[in-house]
Amino acid sequence: MTNFYERNSTLSTDQNNPMKEPRFVGIPTFMRTPLVTDLNELDIALVGVPYDGAVTNRPGARHGPQAIRAASALMRSIHHVHKFSPYDLCRVGDVGDIKLSRMYEHEEVVKEIEQQYQCLIRANITPLSAGGDHSVTYPILKAVAAERPVALIHIDAHTDTWDEFSGSKFMHGSPFRRACEEGLIDPNRTIQIGIRGAQETSEGWDYSLQQGMRVVFMEEFTKLGVAHVIDEARRLVGDQPTYISFDVDGLDPVYAPGTGTPEIGGITTIEALELLRGLRGLNLIGGDVVEVAPPFDPSGNTALVGATLMYEILCLLAEARVGFKNQ
Ligand code: MN
Ligand code: MN
Repeated sequence: MTNFYERNSTLSTDQNNPMKEPRFVGIPTFMRTPLVTDLNELDIALVGVPYDGAVTNRPGARHGPQAIRAASALMRSIHHVHKFSPYDLCRVGDVGDIKLSRMYEHEEVVKEIEQQYQCLIRANITPLSAGGDHSVTYPILKAVAAERPVALIHIDAHTDTWDEFSGSKFMHGSPFRRACEEGLIDPNRTIQIGIRGAQETSEGWDYSLQQGMRVVFMEEFTKLGVAHVIDEARRLVGDQPTYISFDVDGLDPVYAPGTGTPEIGGITTIEALELLRGLRGLNLIGGDVVEVAPPFDPSGNTALVGATLMYEILCLLAEARVGFKNQ
């Protein structure tokens, strides 16, 4: 039996199916899924958000979606631990990149991203996105959490709850401050994992703690171990609708050097995979992988890491979508 993926490949025949083709051929889409324009055909949309106009330091994440698409050709179907293919559970497609017609105006960027995600939410589609800098998660949450606050599992070296930078409240160090202020995330059901690195002020860390978020600094992560952190995350979010936001700078720059704000002493890739796999069965309603900056990624490994994290999150979202839809 063919799945959505197989039916929708451009040249869809048994002999010519991108999943069965050599992975070095074809036009890059996320995970080699079909490029989809009809939202009625989709359960899970893979979306690129090529915007890095809100970084506080090194730019480059605008090139993230293209690099992740290219690297994601290395992904396959059946997860070697979960033993299922997300493409057998859900209709998954690449809907292309968010269109920005006024990329130099931050407020307009927020509106344009939000509006395009609203189209996905209205069509009852689960979004899985590739950034872009982390500022893009705020407008995504505005669409995803429009009806009710969501729980948040946030992996990052930084809490991203700073108030402003250089006079702007819309930047990649503030998405979760804005989301908290607007009631898009429930701070009591928010966990921030992998936090580290010196700051000029402790304001962001303080805000997260004052709001009741669970902040797992890297030293505590190492001491507790992945299994304990998984338990805590699961207990915290419960059965509430939960969003996963993964900033690749949460990983150690040994594994993910291609990012704008690297901090040494971070999460390893195997820990990240274990952490994500420990989130099976939660009521997951969307996710993103952000801050992959190809100009700092000469080996391409950060893009591969980003693509793999996306695939891992895709498996979680596909299973959650089937499980929670049937309840
Ligand atoms: Mn971040
Ligand atoms: Mn970060």
